[in-house]
Amino acid sequence: MEKDLAFDLIIVGAGMVGATLACALAESSLRVAVIESERPTDFKSDQAHDLRVSALNIASQRIFQNIGAWGGIKSRRYCPYRRMRVWEIEGQGDTTFDCKDINESVLGHIVENRVVQLALWERMVQCPNVTLFCPASIKDVDYGTDGSVLFMDDGSQITGRLLVAADGGNSLVRQSAGIGVQSWGYEQQALVSYVETAYPQQDITWQKFVPDGPLAFLPLSGNHASLVWYNWPEEVSRLKGLSDQAFAAELYSIFPRDLGEINQVISRASFPLKRQHALQYVKQGVALVGDAAHMIHPLAGQGVNIGLLDAAVLAETLLLAEREHQNIADISVLKNYESKRRKHNLTMMTSMDLLYRVFRQEQLPVKLLRNLGLGLAQRLAPAKLKAMEFAMGLERSRLDQLVLGGGLPQLAKSKTQAVR
Ligand SMILES: Cc1cc2nc3c(=O)[nH]c(=O)nc-3n(C[C@H](O)[C@H](O)[C@H](O)COP(=O)(O)OP(=O)(O)OC[C@H]3O[C@@H](n4cnc5c(N)ncnc54)[C@H](O)[C@@H]3O)c2cc1C
Repeated sequence: MEKDLAFDLIIVGAGMVGATLACALAESSLRVAVIESERPTDFKSDQAHDLRVSALNIASQRIFQNIGAWGGIKSRRYCPYRRMRVWEIEGQGDTTFDCKDINESVLGHIVENRVVQLALWERMVQCPNVTLFCPASIKDVDYGTDGSVLFMDDGSQITGRLLVAADGGNSLVRQSAGIGVQSWGYEQQALVSYVETAYPQQDITWQKFVPDGPLAFLPLSGNHASLVWYNWPEEVSRLKGLSDQAFAAELYSIFPRDLGEINQVISRASFPLKRQHALQYVKQGVALVGDAAHMIHPLAGQGVNIGLLDAAVLAETLLLAEREHQNIADISVLKNYESKRRKHNLTMMTSMDLLYRVFRQEQLPVKLLRNLGLGLAQRLAPAKLKAMEFAMGLERSRLDQLVLGGGLPQLAKSKTQAVR
């Protein structure tokens, strides 16, 4: 690596969020460095699906379309879903959300995280103002209000006026800048399994709430699916220790009949779950995006969707500051980003917590109320539509605009919406 390089902006972490930010800053006069320790492995169409997949909502799809990365996802592998079903007790309080209700052709797409990252990298390396350093490891970060220095493992140094933390939940950048977090672990873990199903490709996702925790089905391309089973750590360890055959039998016994037969369990792994929120998203010379700023319960698959909105809003904030000849690292500029994102992320995190806790209550009155609530949600069309639009990242009312701190970023709007 060349020695002592100077940039306007250094993005640490080129996962889905950091790489999106880099692409969104393409063709500006900002000199952008992106530091990533691991290169994603190449994609082959006959490979088994990865275990890490995300449900990307409509706002995320639009961001990828607007930064030129959606084609790279479509040319690899993805599965659209058009309906979403939530229920607790069969036949009661059963709610189905359908994209037709909100005049959209899909509710979202399930895509492997690596496929998203590869599509973004393909675009990122075409951006003349972006320099990718990978594999590159940081030994130390010297955060400074007038610019920061990254000390790399190979002895080189990279300096930048603005440092962006896109380095995930354990962000070294966030810690170096002395930004604290409010954090706690959920008692349950997520056991994710990738299976081959007897049914052909589905266009529905579903979530069933059972006493031990929710069960979720995410369709993948072909006869494949990702199953998520939230459960206690001891039970997760037991399930992980079973043979594939015995594990398939357990899945078949607990998952709803809608799943059908499981032909094969291909892989499985568990993930601990944490809620974490940075006390600040910005300081003079530093900004946090994605999981470096917030970690949320994956129950409704919103983590990366809100991270991508962070990237879109930060990019728009910096591009505006650059056009107006303001200092992009100045706290007054960065505060505009924070005020647009913090409230929205907090609303999303609190909604997920509420959902997680309400559905774990076993008392009969709470159960009855829950089912009444789901049943009402099915019948109360306006409430149902509002919930769907919120989850899909669509801004259609004054309320959405308030929660989103003045509305969706242009990058998350369709081209026609953006010019309106
Ligand atoms: C079980 C589970 C299911 C989920 N399902 C969904 C879903 O359906 N939908 C959804 O929206 N979200 C989902 N999420 C959340 C989602 O996966 C995360 O929000 C998302 O991956 C965060 O992206 P990120 O780019 O901010 O961080 P990360 O994905 O953590 O990326 C950080 C990057 O920084 C790099 N890095 C870290 N430290 C350094 C360093 N010091 N130097 C250089 N590089 C560094 C890492 O290598 C990595 O590439 C789920 C999470 C879990 C646990």
